[in-house]
Amino acid sequence: MDGTVFNIMHYALHDGPGIRTVVFLKGCPLACQWCHNPESQDPRPQLMIMAERCIGCGDCLAACSTGAAVLVDGIPGATDACIVCGTCVNVCLAGARTIAGRVMTVQQVMDELVRDRIFFEESGGGVTFSGGEPFAQPAFLKSLLDACRAEGITTAVETCGMADRSELLNMAGKIDVFLYDVKLMDTPRHAEVTGVRNETILANLAALVQAHAHVVIRFPVIPAVNDNQDNINLMIAMMRQLGLHEIDLLPYHRIGTDKYARLGRPYRLADLRPPSAEDMEKMRCIFTDAGMEASIGG
Ligand code: SF4
Ligand code: SF4
Repeated sequence: MDGTVFNIMHYALHDGPGIRTVVFLKGCPLACQWCHNPESQDPRPQLMIMAERCIGCGDCLAACSTGAAVLVDGIPGATDACIVCGTCVNVCLAGARTIAGRVMTVQQVMDELVRDRIFFEESGGGVTFSGGEPFAQPAFLKSLLDACRAEGITTAVETCGMADRSELLNMAGKIDVFLYDVKLMDTPRHAEVTGVRNETILANLAALVQAHAHVVIRFPVIPAVNDNQDNINLMIAMMRQLGLHEIDLLPYHRIGTDKYARLGRPYRLADLRPPSAEDMEKMRCIFTDAGMEASIGG
């Protein structure tokens, strides 16, 4: 069993309880305008190019067997003929070319995870599967969850909720905590800024609650997109109706926006500024006043 992973981050503190190792799986059905991991969205490995590092040596052009590697006016790139073979990455001594995503077996992932066991045990932490959307690779995710369980490692899954309901429910018993993203309650607006409507996401959330899964809501706070009082009121009403009381408020940030250029994609929120610490604290108080356990940053 294998799957496509684009990062494994050790010693994470904001992705579930304790010290965690986060495994980022590639592929996501959403394309949120503010996504700070745009390389997570396509399920396949992708070539990324950091033009600012290029020294114009031309070694990539010589190495590329498909003729896809290009250097136009000193700017490195790749045409649609690129097969993401990675040859140009290996010859680029400047580190201007990288591949996002690699196919790994369950055993290869587990070999990395078990090394952090001491941190999990001492901090009450464990492994978090994130992405992308982990449920976009259901068989791989299920095998990883089973392997963690066999090793006595607790698990969290961060999900956008846009997943096959039977897969979600079948795996719910293997997951200690769901970190469940709810971005916007208004359906047309949700579709506008994420690319998909939210009915399935909200229905899946209700189904997980009904199945007695431990769910923590994750709310990415995006100024002028979802931080308005109407959306917050609807979030609180939804949480009350489902009997949920834990919410992590994740302030919008600009880390990762340069990845869009590396993928040859535009970043649509170039003018957006992160919320202030004061704005975030005010929002936290709105949720706590409504009886929720709200924390900033997870
Ligand atoms: S990844 Fe392979 S095909 Fe794509 S530009 Fe590099 S060498 Fe050419
Ligand atoms: S090998 Fe790297 S540094 Fe040389 S031209 Fe290609 S991208 Fe630029």
